Amino acid sequence: MNDSALFEPFPHYVDARKVFSQKGKFAGHLSNEKFDRLRDLLVEGHFSVYAELHFSIGERGRRMIEGSVDAQLAVACQRCLKPLELTLADDIRLALVQDEEAAAKLDGEIEPWIDAEYRLDPANIVEEQLLLAMPLAAYHDESECQIELSSSNATGALSAEREPSPFAILKELTK
Ligand SMILES: [Zn+2]
Repeated sequence: MNDSALFEPFPHYVDARKVFSQKGKFAGHLSNEKFDRLRDLLVEGHFSVYAELHFSIGERGRRMIEGSVDAQLAVACQRCLKPLELTLADDIRLALVQDEEAAAKLDGEIEPWIDAEYRLDPANIVEEQLLLAMPLAAYHDESECQIELSSSNATGALSAEREPSPFAILKELTK
């Protein structure tokens, strides 16, 4: 019934010689420190990555890495350059292969994860999927974008208007 009980926390590395036959299942939040390449694309703000990975041996002996990733992070809006909170969620379906030649033999719907090492870092796999899922350019909704309008006066007035007072929000909540 409840599969989540079978997930273990992420280790620093998994051993590719064993983890597939042992059907390793891992889930949890991954340390932000692991995501150097991703962090370069982000602005300051909340940043969290949750993933589930399941290793198994699939058809024709393929070493499958399947699961999902769910991240909350902030990038710069391409219109106003202010932080824009994004949620990235994606499914992962990869086959571990040793080289490009083996990768070329995979079916179209399975992406290769090319790695000849036996030590696999789950965070690398997750980071790569997040980089692929990142939008090329992200924008706030127009109503939330803090782009400067015709004059600086207008901007000041607008941003004041847009910030609902905490009391107004409280009033909504207690209705
Ligand atoms: Zn914006």
